[in-house]
Amino acid sequence: MKYYLKLSFTFLLAFVFMTSCSDSSSNDEVLEEVVDDVTDDDATNDDDIDITGLLALFDGTGLSYEISGEYVIFTTIDVPNHGSPYWDQSNELFEAYNGTNADFNLNPNSIEEQNIVFTIPLKPVAADTNEPTRLGPIGISRNGVVFFNQYAGPNNQPLTAEVNSFDQGAGHPTGTDTYHYHVEPLFLTTTFGSDAFLGLLADGFPVYGPVENNEAVTNDDLDDFHGHTNATAEFPSGIYHYHITDADPYLNGNGYYGTPGNISQ
Ligand SMILES: [Zn+2]
Ligand SMILES: [Zn+2]
Repeated sequence: MKYYLKLSFTFLLAFVFMTSCSDSSSNDEVLEEVVDDVTDDDATNDDDIDITGLLALFDGTGLSYEISGEYVIFTTIDVPNHGSPYWDQSNELFEAYNGTNADFNLNPNSIEEQNIVFTIPLKPVAADTNEPTRLGPIGISRNGVVFFNQYAGPNNQPLTAEVNSFDQGAGHPTGTDTYHYHVEPLFLTTTFGSDAFLGLLADGFPVYGPVENNEAVTNDDLDDFHGHTNATAEFPSGIYHYHITDADPYLNGNGYYGTPGNISQ
């Protein structure tokens, strides 16, 4: 990208010199614009990022969205579209635990419909000051289930005690019966692939699965916010994105990379 911009800068410069006697004022304007573009030589020029194209990938139970100016507003009832032992037994999606954790331990909560609204910027930008993620919803997965960070309540404890209550989809409900994912949402990665787009954090930057270019992504590949800039299937020119990995902090590290929108529950 940088190389390309430099090349095009050279060509435009040549063009401007060749034509400078005919119309100098408009050429100066063109040159000014090109210089702006070239000096901003970051391949992930935030001005270029627009996540509107991702919205069509969202599909879940009781999940809808609308665009309002520079934001997308998601409304979700936050229930999984897959089997779980946390469903009421009368629900057709009720499914006894059939995952691989020999220490699985059903927690006393259940899946209940919520009313959670995310207002998320469609043109996410890096924040000057990075806000920590909070307990509770921090993002929305493509099936409408909310993402939580790497901590358990009430005082940011590690997830150690919670892990054994994750169901076969790797989610579980809280004491308020809010179903959520802290770790790789196995139903989504099984359905769409381990390298797939999985959802958004509230700052508008996308979340991808634990594999990229056929290789497992590790925490060492990622920055303090648990992301990096790279090409993705949906953004071949590159975009900052988070990855879910198999080790703590799993989804988010030291806060949002961008400025989060609003979350209400
Ligand atoms: Zn939890
Ligand atoms: Zn990546």
